[in-house]
Amino acid sequence: MRLRLLGSGDAAGMPLYGCGCEACDAASDSPVLRRTACSAQLEIGGRTYLLDAGQMSLTQRFPSGSLDGILLTHFHVDHVQGLFHLRWGVGADIPVYCPEDEEGCADLYKHPGMLCFHPQQAFVPFMLDKLQVTPLPLNHSKPTFGYLMMWQRERIAYLTDTKGLPSKTAELLGSDKLDLMVLDCSHLPGCDRPGHNNLDDALVWHNIIAPRQTVLTHIGHDLDIWLKANPRVLPDGVLAGHDEQLVYPIS
Ligand SMILES: [Zn+2]
Ligand SMILES: [Zn+2]
Ligand SMILES: [Zn+2]
Repeated sequence: MRLRLLGSGDAAGMPLYGCGCEACDAASDSPVLRRTACSAQLEIGGRTYLLDAGQMSLTQRFPSGSLDGILLTHFHVDHVQGLFHLRWGVGADIPVYCPEDEEGCADLYKHPGMLCFHPQQAFVPFMLDKLQVTPLPLNHSKPTFGYLMMWQRERIAYLTDTKGLPSKTAELLGSDKLDLMVLDCSHLPGCDRPGHNNLDDALVWHNIIAPRQTVLTHIGHDLDIWLKANPRVLPDGVLAGHDEQLVYPIS
């Protein structure tokens, strides 16, 4: 399995429109410091899947026929906005695995175009070729799934958006050693808002689940400023993700 972060930003992204903070200024000057919509690309056995579809350039990046499916965590705009253009393409349907959510987002259900939505049940594994995927409920303001992906002896989990973890989800994740946990960490320590982890939360869950590696994602500009001021604060085994970073295999 290979997992690459396509985007590592929160819903606002970075640079945040109109913001003159140090992190946003640096991101304006240097494209590699930008944080775009939180999402990732999974490659396995010659197949390519997306985890979320918030990137606005999907149609340029993934030529027709190159996407084997999309795992959607939830229907907030920053996780689905790339679908609004992609859906009008021609060619074979693209399966989209997602939580059951009556609302969805705008008119995606009414006009799915080439997208084929497949709502999944919590804790019921399904197969993508030889990859086993288990949807795991998260704590967010819309029905949201994290995904546990298992192939041979490798286990990786992608967990956003969430504040903490529901007990059954944590139990399953902790039942066997995880190689990689990609985890929502939107806010700086002490910033307690519903729906997203702050760094204190993320480190607590890193210790409880104890994966080989935790990669923080869905990072807001406030946390980026804070991490720049406190560069040695992340323990071994935890790193702040960035756009285009290959996070698995672990280097
Ligand atoms: Zn989000
Ligand atoms: Zn800023
Ligand atoms: Zn969300």
